[in-house]
Amino acid sequence: MNEKIAFFDTKPYDMQFFNAVNESYHFDITYFEAKLNSRTAMLGGNFDGICVFVNDLVDHDVISKLHQQNVKTIALRCAGYNNVDFKAAYQKIHVVRVPAYSPYAVAEHAAALMISLNRKIYKAYPRTRDGNFSLNGLLGFDMHGKTAAVIGTGKIGRCLISILKGYGMRILAYDPYPDVAYAAAEQIEYVPLEGIYSESDIISLHCPLTPQTEYMINADSLSRMKDGVMLINTGRGKLINTQHLIEALKSGKVGSAGLDVYEEESNYFFEDRSMEMIMDDILARLLVFPNVLVTSHQAFFTREALENIAETTLSNLREFFDGGYLKNEICYKCDSVCLKKQNKRCF
Ligand code: NAD
Repeated sequence: MNEKIAFFDTKPYDMQFFNAVNESYHFDITYFEAKLNSRTAMLGGNFDGICVFVNDLVDHDVISKLHQQNVKTIALRCAGYNNVDFKAAYQKIHVVRVPAYSPYAVAEHAAALMISLNRKIYKAYPRTRDGNFSLNGLLGFDMHGKTAAVIGTGKIGRCLISILKGYGMRILAYDPYPDVAYAAAEQIEYVPLEGIYSESDIISLHCPLTPQTEYMINADSLSRMKDGVMLINTGRGKLINTQHLIEALKSGKVGSAGLDVYEEESNYFFEDRSMEMIMDDILARLLVFPNVLVTSHQAFFTREALENIAETTLSNLREFFDGGYLKNEICYKCDSVCLKKQNKRCF
């Protein structure tokens, strides 16, 4: 029997990569364009499992509805799981994710935002196409010798550190679980957040969104930063209080910002809204700053990452239906990733 899987928030590129990988897995996949939320949860009936992405809402209500319809597993085709109430899912529905698919993709995008903002490539491109070859306003700075801070030295943060070391930057890092041996080997320095804010020319966010990190970039932390600091966020939108960032941009405290994520991105990102008015005044304000570069949650978007996402997602689903231990489970009992090491599930 081929298990039936419903995909939510599906785009053509998802279908392309999942269909190719599914030739080896043989799931019976139905693709829905709609995002998962309490209104669309009823589409989950008749499916054994569902597959969701970053802006699908998997809250208590959605989980209850899916559970009532006998959905047995939710496979996230992403790493972050801040959109899932995994406490509500415990003992009802197993939730699995893709913990790593290409940290290089995200780190390289963060570096691309930095370079583009610094050297104003995004301004130069439309200028030269329009026959304007002036350099006025395009002045950048040498990254060599400047200080970059990486907040969160997990898989992505470490890839970014190796890129920035290649530019000859001094690297500061913050992580509540510092890896001292790694820091010594890479000649980087772990410092408290205070030091990150006061010493860094560029600050890049690579920690998960949790109750501890929500709005960690706010009026107070911004006021402690160097004047003209560059802020890069490829983590999650809610790491930054966007209203406070806008004030800091207006005052010149923040010199530039590269944002691949935005706290209210779910109504806009991944969609073509070019023929509509942007009704989100905060997003609209961000988009008119000449020193803000917004990309639409595309840091993960490389061929290699999509291949790995499809492979791990379908392998997670196969593990679930085969009844084995779920190595990529998010588990309330284990307080996020499942720590069970035996071939046994927590429920
Ligand atoms: P990871 O789990 O390998 O690393 C996260 C690191 O953050 C860990 O070292 C952890 O100790 C640290 N951390 C935890 N709490 C912290 C805190 N309060 N302050 C500072 N650091 C803290 O994860 P990763 O694969 O490197 O991914 C990092 C984040 O990037 C994900 O949580 C996800 O939200 C985001 N992400 C974004 C995209 C994108 O396309 N924009 C793609 C993938 C991941």
